[in-house]
Amino acid sequence: MQIKLNRREALVAGSGMLASAVLSSQAQAMAPTSGSDTPWIDAHSHIWTPDTSKFKLRETVTPDQLAPHSFTDEELMAVATPEGVGRVVLIQHWPYHGWDNSYLIDAWQRHPEKFRIVGMIDDARSDTEKQMKALLKQGVTGFRINPGITKGDWLGTAGMQQMWKTAATTRQPMCCLINPENLAEVGAMCTRFPETPVVIDHFARIGVTGEVKPAELKSLCDLAKHRLVKVKISAYYALGKKQPPHEELVPMIRQLFDAYGADRLMWASDCPYQIDGKSTYRSSISLIRDHIDFVTKEERTKLLCTTAESTFFFV
Ligand SMILES: [Zn+2]
Repeated sequence: MQIKLNRREALVAGSGMLASAVLSSQAQAMAPTSGSDTPWIDAHSHIWTPDTSKFKLRETVTPDQLAPHSFTDEELMAVATPEGVGRVVLIQHWPYHGWDNSYLIDAWQRHPEKFRIVGMIDDARSDTEKQMKALLKQGVTGFRINPGITKGDWLGTAGMQQMWKTAATTRQPMCCLINPENLAEVGAMCTRFPETPVVIDHFARIGVTGEVKPAELKSLCDLAKHRLVKVKISAYYALGKKQPPHEELVPMIRQLFDAYGADRLMWASDCPYQIDGKSTYRSSISLIRDHIDFVTKEERTKLLCTTAESTFFFV
């Protein structure tokens, strides 16, 4: 395994090939890596650049609204690498860039071995299938969907239905930024599109009030009956006591572990929001890497790497 990974690294470093050409090669499709000292994958972080002349902000956003002012991929990796994280899934940041995924694609083009992208598409478009397939060639291996943007029947638009259908063949998961009250309607979509991979972000925000409500956690656990649903165990700064060491979240993680197993859970930081002065990058990964005691070494590796790898680094 290690020999293969090192060979892949050598190929990427030495070939000078275009990133898209590298990705198109089936032989090199699996498991890019940054080496054994950085084995982990952060399944969810945002980045943005103060270079807003090159990467335009949404019309309603001005550069002084960026908070922090800068969080580039270099700044992200500067906090991630010392904690053993060599790869990151970059998540489109709607509040700043809307449907424009170009900064994340730029980061992927510069570092195809490090990054994959969860992008966003306007589901009011009639060509979401075409968009998904085009973006797959640019490192976009999943899509963020969010009831906070398309109000009302957010899962019922023609473009959204086309996305769920397309994802069953492209394998780009529908990544749901939802609240507990949305779990039932997402479950109905899973029934309708049983071959579509789905990832629930941030425990469906259970615990955001400070309290993990058992009925909400049961709803999330019940979604495990759909075999292609996975959950990001992430965004600790926003949940429970909202400060390190985040140990009050362990019973929720344990219950999800019993429902989903290590193959369907993945750790993520949600940077730069996890770095808020109280919480840190280390306090996030440390909960899974160093503290939880109910997993085997192999299961811990799945939570910190393998699940995210098979979900997002499949090309
Ligand atoms: Zn996020």
